Amino acid sequence: MLFTNIDVLQADGTLLPGRTVAVRDGRIVYIGKSVPTADWGEVVAGKDRLLMPGLYNVHTHAAMTILRGYGEGASGEDLPLDRWLRERIFPIEAKMTGDDVYWGTMLGIAEMLSTGTVSFSDMYFFSDRVAQAAFTSGIKANIGHSIRCTDDKKSLKELPSFFETKGLLEALRELRTDRVRVDVAPHSEYTTTPKLLAELAEFSAVYGTRVQTHLSETQKEQLACVGRHGKTPAAVMRDAGLFNRPVTAAHCVWVTESDQEILREHGVTVAHCPQSNLKLGSGIAPVENMRRMGIPVAVGTDSTASNNNLDLLEEIRTAALLARGIARDPCALPAADALYMATRAGALAQGREDCGDIREGYRADLLVLNERAPSMTPRHSLLTNLLFSASPDALEMTVVNGRVLYRGGEFPTLDIERIRYRVNRCVKALLAR
Ligand SMILES: [Zn+2]
Repeated sequence: MLFTNIDVLQADGTLLPGRTVAVRDGRIVYIGKSVPTADWGEVVAGKDRLLMPGLYNVHTHAAMTILRGYGEGASGEDLPLDRWLRERIFPIEAKMTGDDVYWGTMLGIAEMLSTGTVSFSDMYFFSDRVAQAAFTSGIKANIGHSIRCTDDKKSLKELPSFFETKGLLEALRELRTDRVRVDVAPHSEYTTTPKLLAELAEFSAVYGTRVQTHLSETQKEQLACVGRHGKTPAAVMRDAGLFNRPVTAAHCVWVTESDQEILREHGVTVAHCPQSNLKLGSGIAPVENMRRMGIPVAVGTDSTASNNNLDLLEEIRTAALLARGIARDPCALPAADALYMATRAGALAQGREDCGDIREGYRADLLVLNERAPSMTPRHSLLTNLLFSASPDALEMTVVNGRVLYRGGEFPTLDIERIRYRVNRCVKALLAR
């Protein structure tokens, strides 16, 4: 592909106006002012258009699109995280089938592609079906099979979820793809044991995987852990050796100063999920403090049952507004830093060193936005428009590894009508089960 005369926004907020960008074999091979003569395939006229890096959603449970609105719907009340999980989410999840997860994930992928996400980190079950959906659609994904067991007599090798993870790792190795990857995913401290966490750390080291987990999402979880172990969840995970692996920890709302020191020391990436934390009334993560300390922070939406959408631009908008309101400082979480969190920091959290920015040699994971869209006009500052005013309909195109996966409301790799139909059928059957 060749993009001509297009404004290029890099992950650190640098704007390069009117550039030519050439893509070959899924990578960006040229960024400059002249037009290299060659047969580039499709040529995209870039006048009044913005080319920016695709977004990385580093914490979600994509299949939960089929539970969007369910947690609060039928019960008629809004619940805190522990009751929301125990009374609403876990019981219905126990009735879900592989097909429910497949079609729910497909719907999630469609929503992500149409809002600019090129890669997601997922934690769920029937993870082979999550992988199948990611593989078919063309999106990138780091997939974790959620591992939960609080019986400390049980070892890892007695858990079906362990064999699901191992099976998926081996299956994807055979496919020789690095687009879809497998992470080891202990659900959280409160749904596992220190013994299990230690075994998972070892397993992750043997297979060279990354790790995803939930950490210190609510105050109740934090206090219960201290009651159980005499230390915080971050200290439990560190002592189990889990933080010796590359870890992405979702939420980190209630981490103490010394927990934050543990995260910094071990280079743990925080997946900041402000909208989910606000909706469930869990609190607000001390993101600015963590960033000041040098802790890597990326962004996640969490599931559509607690958000309730997968729009990552909206997520960084919320993150920036919260950071400024809390600090009573309009300079807190600047637009360029928010953009970096949703792009390059996310790619690094997934172990994708050559992704998340527009640079020669990097993977062509790109978004094209219409600078003439009402919400992007006028152009005093493209970056400010992007963070604080852009509506999703400004997005014209989502490209992953040089392949167009979304263009003007159409999904070249997905049958969106069939996905909608199958999701509605799954919901009906699930509620009747
Ligand atoms: Zn989550």
